[in-house]
Amino acid sequence: MKQKHAVVIGSGFAGLSAATHLAANNFSVTLLEKNDSPGGRSRKFETEGFTFDMGPSWYWMPDVFEEYFSHFDKKPADYYDLIRLDPSYSVIYGQDDILNIPANLDEFKSMLEQIEPGAAEQLDKFLAQAKYKYQVGIHDLVKKPSRSLLEFTSLTLLKDVMRMDVFQSMATHVRKFFKSEKIIRLMEFPVLFLGETAENIPALYSLMNYADIALGTWYPKGGMHEIIKGMVTLAEEKGVKIRYNAEVEEIEIERGEARSLRLISGERIKADLVIAGADYHHVDRHLVNPKYSNYSEEYWDKRVLAPSSLLFYLGVDKKLKNLHHHNLFFDEPLGPHADAIYTNPRWPEAPLFYACAPSVTDQTVAPEGMENLFLLVPLAPDLEDSEETREKYYGMIMDRLEKITGQDIRSHVIFKRSYAHADFKADYHAYKGNAYGLANTLKQTALLKPSLKNNKVSNLFYTGQLTVPGPGVPPSLISGYVVAKEAIRENS
Ligand SMILES: Cc1cc2nc3c(=O)[nH]c(=O)nc-3n(C[C@H](O)[C@H](O)[C@H](O)COP(=O)(O)OP(=O)(O)OC[C@H]3O[C@@H](n4cnc5c(N)ncnc54)[C@H](O)[C@@H]3O)c2cc1C
Repeated sequence: MKQKHAVVIGSGFAGLSAATHLAANNFSVTLLEKNDSPGGRSRKFETEGFTFDMGPSWYWMPDVFEEYFSHFDKKPADYYDLIRLDPSYSVIYGQDDILNIPANLDEFKSMLEQIEPGAAEQLDKFLAQAKYKYQVGIHDLVKKPSRSLLEFTSLTLLKDVMRMDVFQSMATHVRKFFKSEKIIRLMEFPVLFLGETAENIPALYSLMNYADIALGTWYPKGGMHEIIKGMVTLAEEKGVKIRYNAEVEEIEIERGEARSLRLISGERIKADLVIAGADYHHVDRHLVNPKYSNYSEEYWDKRVLAPSSLLFYLGVDKKLKNLHHHNLFFDEPLGPHADAIYTNPRWPEAPLFYACAPSVTDQTVAPEGMENLFLLVPLAPDLEDSEETREKYYGMIMDRLEKITGQDIRSHVIFKRSYAHADFKADYHAYKGNAYGLANTLKQTALLKPSLKNNKVSNLFYTGQLTVPGPGVPPSLISGYVVAKEAIRENS
């Protein structure tokens, strides 16, 4: 039988995962990427001896990466070396009020016990539930293509869903176990990765606390982009042909079937199957004729997007003190910032921010004696983004960073690049300049997410952080796997 040709759009985690699964299942695969390097939101850039990861910096859920590579009889260690961080991260509540989260569970429990007597025992109960949710959630639920309710009708699964706290908010759930505001903020932090506040995220996602506390925070030596490098090597080993600077302008459809892709260069590439790993909205509204779109502009406008971000990539010509690898600046109240992201979108008056200094762990990402610093302020999508505003926020967070860590940083910055909404749009066609895709609210979970299959085009599928299972690196890897399985089932 003639080998079928699959074309995958986008070399992010989801596109690379889908392409590699297809190639390993006897498809000839071409992957088209608009940028000149792979990784999408997890690209890197190098300058003046610094290597900056452009997006993700937290390596959580190591078992998901193990599983990904094991599909191809490989393991992460074949491609990159992992280091477990200790402390996992630091939470800065104020100048002299900092928690360094130990990697060791007993030390972590002692720390909680000092803040709130009885919290260690409560943590055991909280984690026992979180573990169960993680096992069922990550190893079963997230792998459902979510195309039909029938997928969820087995009795065991229904019982599982009830035990998974799908209908209770994370905020309510955490408060059943802990009273201290400090511990509550700590326990609510991981769900910020899911693009909403704890009030609007189902308590199912306390599975993220299990990932954080029990499975740990890891770092691939050389940076997060080493994962992408490994995935590209593996994809090419399996026969995927990756083409860079190959932006798709149209998916050409005839009689309900995608037949070819037209690049902006005018070149046409024939396809028996198309999997789009570029941002869903861009593909659905701009790459296919709107008569074949799954969803209208009104539908998209009503989705709750995960936040965008203002980022600064900084090269600092000295080593910094009082900073760990991951530092969460929670020295301002979350409420007004969350309001500025989710309820009344605006630039926040006093933003929380995150500082990542990977050169604390790994001197290969900065010249000897220097620091690689990445600052991130989560923001509402679709804000007016100007150089002047970016500078204002740079000043604001630098003041706090310098004051809290007790040192002059600004005058030691020898490289600086900012990145926000306009860049997300230009680089990834990101809808409203989103950074992390679609939020994992209850109304945007499983069957209620944009479908991974086009309803009107028999051989067009979608993958990535705007479809199932959701935002983040591990879910994007899983998304590629799930969509490839569906596409293979329908097209073999
Ligand atoms: C600043 C930031 C920090 C983050 N931090 C973390 C973290 O610490 N941990 C974590 O797990 N997750 C994190 N995330 C989320 C995570 O990075 C994403 O969920 C994940 O990388 C999304 O992968 P994807 O494959 O869905 O999309 P993308 O990575 O965006 O890939 C889509 C690709 O499609 C390409 N493309 C778009 N249009 C076209 C076209 N017309 N033709 C050809 N190609 C096209 C794009 O160039 C891009 O390469 C972070 C994200 C950001 C932005």
